Amino acid sequence: MKNQLIKFWKNEKIVKNEKVLEAFKAVPREEFILGGYEHDAYGDYPLPIHAGQTISQPTTVMIMTDALDIKKGQKVLEIGTGSGYQAAILSKLVGEKGKVITTEIIKELADFSKNNIKKLKINNIKILHSDGSEGYAKEAPYDRIIVTAACPKIPQPLIDQLKEGGIIVAPVESVLGQEMVKGIKKNGKLITASLGYFSFVPLKGKHGYTS
Ligand code: SAH
Repeated sequence: MKNQLIKFWKNEKIVKNEKVLEAFKAVPREEFILGGYEHDAYGDYPLPIHAGQTISQPTTVMIMTDALDIKKGQKVLEIGTGSGYQAAILSKLVGEKGKVITTEIIKELADFSKNNIKKLKINNIKILHSDGSEGYAKEAPYDRIIVTAACPKIPQPLIDQLKEGGIIVAPVESVLGQEMVKGIKKNGKLITASLGYFSFVPLKGKHGYTS
């Protein structure tokens, strides 16, 4: 199943960076899902985790990761840790000298993801139980930022905390649905492009839909 997905992403040119495929190979998705779903670990669909949230579909994780164009040694901020799976993929790409900081607003999921990451002995990820819609100023600026919940618009604190020339990828609500936006920061502003339409749970918090 894992190989079928890789073949599909290669054939359809969905993932262009070979290193992203290597990261996918290196992270066992089965370690990030709930008991009872083991056979679905490599199905190309989202799966339920705790508190009504989901672990994103593998293809969505790959498209977002590929778009981030991560280099070794970079510092990446994620909003929406969920299971910790996306963070684990990012951690492989930044390598030992890099760092992933990820924020989760639901305590149960912050604990769940911490446990998943610990099991795999990954030590370049910092998981915070906080409102990520405000970013995390303490570790800013970031080379890359990824938002894994749908936002009304890209939160300004995230733009402020992104390095000049840095890349942010986020699903943003539009009239047609949730549009995946890739932004590159130039002179303090984002130059954006669309990566298509996806389905995400809503972003909560100060710059999300509810507080
Ligand atoms: N990246 C995750 C899937 C994310 S689902 C994975 O790999 O499994 C989206 C997550 O965003 C949910 O866990 C939800 O609780 C969280 N979330 C929603 N609003 C948030 C906010 N303001 N700050 C941090 N996390 C938030």
